[in-house]
Amino acid sequence: MDITVFLGAPGSGKGTQAKRLAQSGRFAHFSTGDMLRLAIQRRIDVGIKAKAFIDRGELVPDNIMIELIERALAEVRGDTRVILDGFPRTLPQAEALDEKPSTTVGRVVYFEVPEPKLVLRLTGRRICEKCGEPFHVEFQPPRKAGVCDKCGGNLIQRTDDSEEVVRHRLSVYRNQTLPLLSYYQSRNRLERVDGDQDIEVLMANLLKILR
Ligand code: AMP
Repeated sequence: MDITVFLGAPGSGKGTQAKRLAQSGRFAHFSTGDMLRLAIQRRIDVGIKAKAFIDRGELVPDNIMIELIERALAEVRGDTRVILDGFPRTLPQAEALDEKPSTTVGRVVYFEVPEPKLVLRLTGRRICEKCGEPFHVEFQPPRKAGVCDKCGGNLIQRTDDSEEVVRHRLSVYRNQTLPLLSYYQSRNRLERVDGDQDIEVLMANLLKILR
């Protein structure tokens, strides 16, 4: 398995880019946030455990997350190129991946975006209830207000995209996830991209890194 981690603050665009890359058919994309939201919708055990943490903007405990991702990766064929989006988010999570040769992380792409921009992106974000496609009320509005361009589903605001929860998620990110930068930097696996640039230019940069 060839694993690339997309690392960045909430709202840095890593999920949007990972979804687009997965649509090309060349990558398997795992978003732990999407996996948890699906588990909540389906009332699966892990979703029930995770919901209160997500709604408060806290991280779900490491043991739950590590088990979730290990199970998902165990289903993946050995020659697959994987993009992890939203995992790892803590040092113990990063160490758990590196513990096994089969899930060792090959490279990490860090999406850099200034914090004021992150708040605007997150609080204006809307996602399709049905297919998960992301939109933004200002920066990427759907053709018809409230309706997904792709599948016609309803656009909703995530409960954790309210301004208060967003500010908390960003402080959790600074305290718990940012230390991963030096973890991967010291292992020579870190590539930085400017996440605050034209989406097509960014995609071209990502394709170069992932080549
Ligand atoms: P995301 O869609 O990536 O912003 O994730 C939404 C929420 O799911 C986060 O705010 C966390 O509560 C939870 N979550 C997703 N991935 C992880 C992870 N790797 N570790 C802990 N919590 C996570």
